[in-house]
Parts: sequence; structure tokens; C-alpha cells
Amino acid sequence: MVEALLLVLGAALALLIHEGAHALVALANGQDVTAFRPYPHRYAGRLYVGRCWVWPYDPDDIGFHVAPAVASFVLAAGWLAVGLWPLAIGLAVDHIWWWLGWFRIRFTSDGKRSDGWKVRQALR
Ligand SMILES: [Zn+2]
Repeated sequence: MVEALLLVLGAALALLIHEGAHALVALANGQDVTAFRPYPHRYAGRLYVGRCWVWPYDPDDIGFHVAPAVASFVLAAGWLAVGLWPLAIGLAVDHIWWWLGWFRIRFTSDGKRSDGWKVRQALR
């Protein structure tokens, strides 16, 4: 039962950490965070798992798009190291999802809007 609650908490934390990593990089770059919604919602007819919009937005900003992958990897490894595997799963899923975007293997879209794909394009 405790593990189930930690899984739910881990999923919520993963969304907060993913969008928070975007927001921290944007703020460090002097950009404005115009939308910060680390939870599933609809906006302009689209379903978002989470959303962090910044202004001015640069689609080639590697730091902005790679930050969630770094944060999810480091924190998942840290939680695994201290035995909190139910918390680590949400971040591990987010990390794997980032890489599925890199390879454009998404089940819900063509993957061109994913962080992983945008980093791959910026590195070309
Ligand atoms: Zn993202």
C-alpha cells in the first residue's frame, strides 16, 4: 500500500521536476516563465501531461530541452541508491520518454514536439 502511494507521489514529483527543470533553465537564462503547469491539463484543444512555456522561446535551446533528462536521471539514480524505488519509477519513465522522443518513438504523436527530438535537431 505504501509503495502504491509512493508510485503516485513519484509520478506527481516527476512532472514537477520535469517542468521545474525547464523553468529553472529559463529563469537562469533571463527568460520569463509564462505558463507553469506540472500536471495533466487541456490547453487550446490539446492535452498536455505538463507544460512550461517561456518567453522568448528558442526551440534550439539545448539546455532548456535537455534539463529534464539530466534531472530525471540524477534524481532517479539517487532515489534508487537510498532504496526509494517507487519514487524513482516516475522519473525513470520520464527519462525513457525523453529518449523515445530523441528517436521519435512516441505512441501519441509524431514526436517532433518532444524535448529529445528538439535536442537532436539542435545538435545537427
Ligand atoms: Zn519537457
